[in-house]
Formats: sequence, structure tokens, C-alpha cells
Amino acid sequence: MKAAQKPIITRFAPSPTGYLHIGGLRTALFNYLYARANGGKFLLRIEDTDLARNSIEATQAILEAFQWVGLDYDGEVVYQSQRFGLYKQYIQQLLDSKKAYYCYMSKQELDELRAEQERNKQTPRYDNRYRDFSGTPPQNVAPVVRIKAPLEGAITFDDGVKGHISINAKELDDFIIARSDGSPTYNFVVAIDDALMGVTDVIRGDDHLSNTPKQIIVYNALGFDIPRFFHVPMILNPQGKKLSKRDGAMGVMDYEKMGYLSEALLNFLVRLGWSYGDKEIFSMREMLALFDPNALNSSPSAYNEDKLLWLNQHYIKQTDNAALEVLLSAFGAPKLSEKSRQILYPALKERCNTLVNFTQSLQEVLNPPTTYDEKMRAKLDSTALQSLGALYETLSIQTKAWEGVADIESYLHDFASQKQIKIGKLMPTLRCALLGKSGGIGVCEVLIALGKEQSLERIKAFISHI
Ligand code: GLU
Repeated sequence: MKAAQKPIITRFAPSPTGYLHIGGLRTALFNYLYARANGGKFLLRIEDTDLARNSIEATQAILEAFQWVGLDYDGEVVYQSQRFGLYKQYIQQLLDSKKAYYCYMSKQELDELRAEQERNKQTPRYDNRYRDFSGTPPQNVAPVVRIKAPLEGAITFDDGVKGHISINAKELDDFIIARSDGSPTYNFVVAIDDALMGVTDVIRGDDHLSNTPKQIIVYNALGFDIPRFFHVPMILNPQGKKLSKRDGAMGVMDYEKMGYLSEALLNFLVRLGWSYGDKEIFSMREMLALFDPNALNSSPSAYNEDKLLWLNQHYIKQTDNAALEVLLSAFGAPKLSEKSRQILYPALKERCNTLVNFTQSLQEVLNPPTTYDEKMRAKLDSTALQSLGALYETLSIQTKAWEGVADIESYLHDFASQKQIKIGKLMPTLRCALLGKSGGIGVCEVLIALGKEQSLERIKAFISHI
């Protein structure tokens, strides 16, 4: 009989030292997709052992970001800070089985060793002096605990992104697993937790690649199964440099404030380091169906803001008007009548790529202009203004023309030809009266969305202003 395959268990393990950045969210997304698509589990572990650098706010921000983008995790969040007792047990187990030992090397001895290695142009590494120590320990040194690294051979693993990795034992030393105050070190707790949480696949940034051999030493010492590793290259800026705040290495929640939709951000991130043919748009369902960590790219990906904006516009267009109104209300957009919404939303969906500029454009239409563009005004001659006056009069007594965009459009064309003025002259004049500036959505859409009363008020105000 074929052995049943173990279900896939992935995790995201952020350190709450700052806000969740988009690189972190990408890692979380890859892990989420892989687990969810395979009926596995996706776990969240907060790596908060560094009590001096961690903050509750940062943990909150991580959870908030997860909620915003809709990545749900299984079970309870695991906090490393609550597991010190557990780590201690495993340190003791390794000491008892002689796979780890107390090292009494003083700070001064360590400095001397470093200096000597530097003089000899050797890489600084611990020289195993307490590995097989059986004498009387010095009194005045609080010992650290070191794990016994292999003395020969190599630590090897097959990385799903980087390929076969082999680290010669000579490059690894007996590293510290517990500090002199008894607190466990980073690589030790990561390995313990991944093993105890049953993690089968670790997808993480390639800045962690050099930690992996150390973690494998811990796995081996405790007889744990070693997970599969996928080390994903960094996201770089368009110039090929490390992503900085200016390029967008911001907290995930900043993207919400800038008016991005979470679907757009996730779609953007999934394509940084992974592709499926030349497909660019991925709904969550498609991501789940198509994502495969074995197809992760081994070269770095580049952050491209234009693409993010393009995707955002795509998802804004996809959002139905009622749902979009709810999203826009968080940015201060007012609730519209059904009729105005039906006219303005499709027109603005064509022009706006964030919820922020959508709201701005909406407000530019809804709020009467307080100033009028000088250049536009200068172009208006007396005929243009006269015809605007005549138009005001006739539109005041019209009903049919105000019924819809097509009605007002044909009415304006008829009016222009009767008065023998060019429509190309009438429209900019009207635009200036209604909006105070050039550009923006069509004049006929504005007229109908504002309605007869407001439109006429604006035309009147403009005529009396000039
Ligand atoms: N806590 C680590 C970090 O935030 C990640 C550890 C891991 O994924 O193994 O960079």
C-alpha cells in the first residue's frame, strides 16, 4: 500500500519589530496559497522573543493587515514569548544527550580568539574548546549552551528555489542555542517551533538561507523531520537596489490608506517572483488553482508602481457600484442617488486608479467650483458667453433634456446648430461653468449627475462671476 502523503502545513513567522511590509505579506501569501490549495494548514507564529525590540502595536498591525487582505490562518496564533519553558526543555534534552554542552569561554577569551583569527585571515568561528570539556568549570563565567555541529561532511538540502545546497561542516561551528541568561537563540527556537507545529514546507525570504544549515543541525540533533525549504529572492526596486520606503517598502496598511484594494495588492505580490505564462490578472480562486512554489523564480523581482496602479484600476472596475461606495465612504466620498451613481461611477472607473483619486474626482464634480481656470476663461469670447446665457434660459424650461445623458447630449447639439455655434466651443464653456477647470469626465455626464437645479445654479453663478 502506498503511504498516505502528509498534508501540507505552512506558516508565516514574522518578528513584530516593525510594521508588516509588503515583502512579508508576499511570503505570507505564498505560504497561504500553497497550504490552502492543497487542503493543508496555514499557521501564524509571532516571533517575539526579542523582548527589547518587539512591540504589541507591531503584532496588532500584523493581525490587522491579515484581516484587511483576508488571509485567514488555522488555529490560534503561536507566540514564541509564551514558549520559553518549552525551549528550555529541549535545551536540557540536548544537554542530557550530550548533543549540546555548556561553554565557559569568557568574553575576553572570545575577543582574543577573534583577534587571532583576524590576524591569520581566518573566518571568525568558535574553536570548540569546551566541546568535550570534563574539567572543573570556571567559577566566574555564566556559561552559554552550544550545540554540537558536525565536524566533517556537509549539511545539504534541496531548496525548492535555489536548488541543491551544500554547506561544508568546516564552515559551521558549534553555535549558541542558549545565552548565558538561559534565553534561547533565534535559530534554535525557529527549528523547535517549525518541528512542533508540524510544518512541512517553509517558504521565506532568501535572507534566511544562511540560517537553514543551523536549523537543520537542530532538527538532526532532536530527530525531527526536516521540512522542505523554498528561499524566495528579495523584491528590488526598478533600479535593482534594495527596496526602500520611497519605492514602496511600506507597511501593508499604508496601501489601504493610499486607496489600494487588497485584491490588487495580493495580485501584484503574487507576480513578484512567480509567474504563470504571461498571465497578469489572478483572482484569489485562480491564485489558489495555479500557484506552485516549485515555479518560484530564482532571480529577484522588481517593484513596479505603475503595474500596481494598473491592477488597482482593474479591481476598482470589477467592484460593483454598491460595494465600491462602501469602500469610498472610508475616504470621505458622499453617498449618491442611484441615478448619479450610475452615471458617475462608470465614468470615474475609467479614469481613476486609486480610491483616493476616485474620491477626489467625485468631489470635484459634486462640489461647486470656487475658482475658475484662468486660461479657460481667457479663451471665452462674448459669443460664447452670450450663448451660455441663452442656454441657461432654455435649459431652465426643459424637462425632457434632463432625463438622461443621451437626451442632454442631443439637446446641446440641437441648441448649438440652431445658434450656429460650434459644439466644440459650447462644451468647454459649459465645463468651465460647471467644474471650473479643464479635464475630467464628460460634460453631459456631469449635467445629469448633478441634475437640473444644481447645474443651472452653477451656470448662473459662473455668468454672474465674469
Ligand atoms: N521571524 C523571521 C522574520 O521575520 C522569519 C523566520 C522564518 O520565516 O523562518 O524575518
